[in-house]
Amino acid sequence: MIQLDKKQTCTGCHACTTKCPKQCITMISDTEGFWYPQINKEECIDCGLCERVCPIITPIKFEDPFNPVAYACYNTNEKVRLASSSGGVFTLIAEAVLKQGGVVFGAGFDEDFNVCHQCVERAENLDKLRMSKYVQSKIGETYREAENFLKENRLVLFTGTPCQIGGLKAYLSKSYDNLITQDIICHGIPSPMVWEAYLAFRKKSAGGCAARRIAFRRKDFGWKRYSVSISYGNDTEYRQDLTQDLFMKGFLKDLYLRPSCHACAFKSIKRHSDITLADFWGIENILPEMFDDKGTSLVLIQSKKGKALFESIEKDLVCQNVNMDEALKYNPAAIRPAPIPKNREVFYNRFGKELFDKIIHDLTKLSFKTRVRTAAVKILNKLGIKEQIKKTLKK
Ligand SMILES: Cc1cc2nc3c(=O)[nH]c(=O)nc-3n(C[C@H](O)[C@H](O)[C@H](O)COP(=O)(O)OP(=O)(O)OC[C@H]3O[C@@H](n4cnc5c(N)ncnc54)[C@H](O)[C@@H]3O)c2cc1C
Ligand code: SF4
Ligand code: SF4
Ligand code: SF4
Repeated sequence: MIQLDKKQTCTGCHACTTKCPKQCITMISDTEGFWYPQINKEECIDCGLCERVCPIITPIKFEDPFNPVAYACYNTNEKVRLASSSGGVFTLIAEAVLKQGGVVFGAGFDEDFNVCHQCVERAENLDKLRMSKYVQSKIGETYREAENFLKENRLVLFTGTPCQIGGLKAYLSKSYDNLITQDIICHGIPSPMVWEAYLAFRKKSAGGCAARRIAFRRKDFGWKRYSVSISYGNDTEYRQDLTQDLFMKGFLKDLYLRPSCHACAFKSIKRHSDITLADFWGIENILPEMFDDKGTSLVLIQSKKGKALFESIEKDLVCQNVNMDEALKYNPAAIRPAPIPKNREVFYNRFGKELFDKIIHDLTKLSFKTRVRTAAVKILNKLGIKEQIKKTLKK
């Protein structure tokens, strides 16, 4: 029976609870808003299955010794590209699977804007899964649903964070030719409870009006300066860019990531998925011709299956092969977990007791030294004194 001695050793993937033959494991949210398994010991028959399918307790083996290959790409369909977080490659992969009669699993919103995994069977519903949601997505029953489709010989595309793909593979415990998996380079996932509190804060600011549509990464000001957008029932819209929106500010300072993200067991170039998707940060320095600030994806092909699927969508992509070191130069989240910031504990000590905006303002404001340095760099930049800037930064 699973015994969690440290919170960092559980990703909340749901493999254990889905597998338990007695259904005596419930996922319960802790005071930080993250789910952990709780076992009803009266019902447990000590079969050990939960430990065998936990990808942290029993690490899974790589199915394919394929050496990952990197590409810079974007979808030639500009409408889809602009409606996606980076280059819109997810949609092409998903459409290729749906065209073969398959099904696609990924993270979407429910009617209350909680983030949860769901299944899509028609191309017109893919917008539910499109675009990053910076909140942990609840797997719920989707591992079991995917298994049922696999057993019916339907082609299944399962997408999610690397730990969710690890959980699925561990739960299935065997390889399926009709399963394709796609993960992401994952910085970490914020707490669903903090997201809920943020939404309540925004609703109050909107005069109590309910949200109708939410997008974390609108590209109206560009891909690099993306913005959070919440449209309300009264035809008003809240819009702030990533440096100003309160939820994004706290996320980017790592104030409320899941503890397992700070010790992530899935950071590596080689993944358990067939394809890894990411933003190609730094593309303007590496391949300037692939940068137009509308979104460029970094794609890592992880297996023969991933390669075959990628070749089938290549005609709909602008695409260039890239050296792996160059590809990951500006994306440390691929291989290194974010360290725990000292303000994480302060955040949770104040969360729920003080106003959300006050906590975030206090914990994300720049120090006096940083503000002086930023102002100095701006002035020097205007004057074009580059050498002076370098010297100032060194001090
Ligand atoms: C929490 C999170 C952290 C990320 N961190 C990084 C990073 O550090 N560096 C980087 O380069 N890229 C990161 N990404 C990936 C990047 O934002 C894009 O999702 C990726 O490039 C795919 O873009 P796209 O345009 O092809 O497709 P899009 O349509 O934008 O992406 C849709 C895909 O994202 C999945 N997805 C969306 N939200 C979630 C979620 N909450 N949990 C699991 N899967 C989700 C969907 O299931 C679907 O597969 C992160 C994404 C998320 C969700
Ligand atoms: S040991 Fe078996 S019965 Fe007990 S919680 Fe784990 S899977 Fe369920
Ligand atoms: S990592 Fe997944 S399988 Fe392991 S204990 Fe946590 S929820 Fe269960
Ligand atoms: S950082 Fe690691 S543990 Fe956290 S969500 Fe991403 S893959 Fe899972």
